[in-house]
Amino acid sequence: MEVKVIGGGLAGVEAAYALSKAGVEVKLYEMRPRKMTPAHSTGYLAEVVCSNSFGATSLSTPSGLLKAEMEAMDSLVLKVAKRAAVPAGQALAVDREAFAREVTEFLESLPGLEVVREEVREIPPGPVIIATGPLTSEELSRSIVDLTGRKNLFFYDATSPIVSASSIDMGRAFVASRYGKGGADYINCPMTEEEYMEFWKALVEAETVPLHDFEKHLFESCLPIEELARRGPQTLIFGPLKPVGLVDPRTGEMPYAVVQLRQDNIAATLYSMVGFQTRLKWGEQKRVFSMIPCLRRAEFVKYGVMHRNTYINSPALLLPTLQFRKKQDVFFAGQIVGVEGYMESAATGIMAGIFAAALVKGREISPPPPTTAIGSLLNYVSRADWRNFQPMNFVFGLLPPLKKRIRKRRERRLALSRRALRDLEDWKEGELARLL
Ligand SMILES: Cc1cc2nc3c(=O)[nH]c(=O)nc-3n(C[C@H](O)[C@H](O)[C@H](O)COP(=O)(O)OP(=O)(O)OC[C@H]3O[C@@H](n4cnc5c(N)ncnc54)[C@H](O)[C@@H]3O)c2cc1C
Repeated sequence: MEVKVIGGGLAGVEAAYALSKAGVEVKLYEMRPRKMTPAHSTGYLAEVVCSNSFGATSLSTPSGLLKAEMEAMDSLVLKVAKRAAVPAGQALAVDREAFAREVTEFLESLPGLEVVREEVREIPPGPVIIATGPLTSEELSRSIVDLTGRKNLFFYDATSPIVSASSIDMGRAFVASRYGKGGADYINCPMTEEEYMEFWKALVEAETVPLHDFEKHLFESCLPIEELARRGPQTLIFGPLKPVGLVDPRTGEMPYAVVQLRQDNIAATLYSMVGFQTRLKWGEQKRVFSMIPCLRRAEFVKYGVMHRNTYINSPALLLPTLQFRKKQDVFFAGQIVGVEGYMESAATGIMAGIFAAALVKGREISPPPPTTAIGSLLNYVSRADWRNFQPMNFVFGLLPPLKKRIRKRRERRLALSRRALRDLEDWKEGELARLL
């Protein structure tokens, strides 16, 4: 039985390659060059649309661990990237044209794999992997809405920064819900009038990232915090920073302003800043948001972003095997499942290919454990809180903590990476071996 892969981007090419290696026939549909997206400019498969960097390679970085795992999974993107690499210090960067050309030529020459240059306008009968990315064409988006329901397909990403729980100053913050309703659900970061005014001034003067033309009309209903702030110093006090219903136990009084942090993962190691969707440049986010007294030493594991991004509410819709729960011969992969980044997209492509091959061959494979970078991403997209689902890069905070506490950050990260790579090897020997 043949598997259709829709979208020949970073996820789609990996999915097609994984299927092909498992001996499954593949039809890979790519609409370019007949129909372009607003960001791509060539007809090559696996075109990288913006930065030509695939991130750091050291195992003490999230990106390095993810790449090491992908290498262990025989990633096509990584193999070709290494051949098309350009000097980039500790990072892996590619000559984008050489990279995309080689991926394209390689896949086009694989027996049992056909590349079809056609826009898919409706989800075809399964088995099918939908890997059409953040710029999925309009017609297909409509068909995805028919499958998922309107409220489960998002068209842009307007996310707030996420900080690690261990870096919040809990000596100053307090845990409470507004008016005591809903238990101790939020971490509240109080500010005095003086602290708030200093923060407000820095916020309105900070530098923002320009929007692409095709994104301008998307953000009318969702103002970034700096835009709200520009309406006047009091706007935030009546908006996302309103203190009403909150009493600071240290003073027994309502603070002048409060920044609320909401738990972002089940392990409670990550918290997102409520109402802080922003277009500030990343360095500016660190500078300005670190002025919030409880966040002076905050580790920002993810910065806020606003850009065009088509993605589904995966935790409400997908199994950890990236299968659509209600129709299990439909798989999703890449940025559309709510991961972010070239490598994360490619990694989910590898896995969707493996899971779809298992389905075709009538075998059951469970995903890699959540102690691995790839397993933690699958865990995140299928099990995060569906009510506040936000796209995510791989960060070490997604991994369960080590049994033994290691104080030094670099040593801790290296230990997490070693555990991840060991667990991935065990998974390959146990689970993946059953597919081949
Ligand atoms: C403007 C922009 C800049 C980005 N910059 C970066 C960056 O610098 N670094 C980074 O790590 N990440 C970046 N990302 C995020 C993300 O990593 C990339 O978008 C990544 O390419 C996603 O991989 P993907 O396979 O999910 O989607 P894509 O690589 O976009 O692949 C999807 C493919 O599906 C095709 N397609 C769409 N609809 C159809 C259809 N109906 N029928 C057939 N084919 C279809 C598209 O032409 C495309 O080739 C950026 C995203 C955008 C939108």
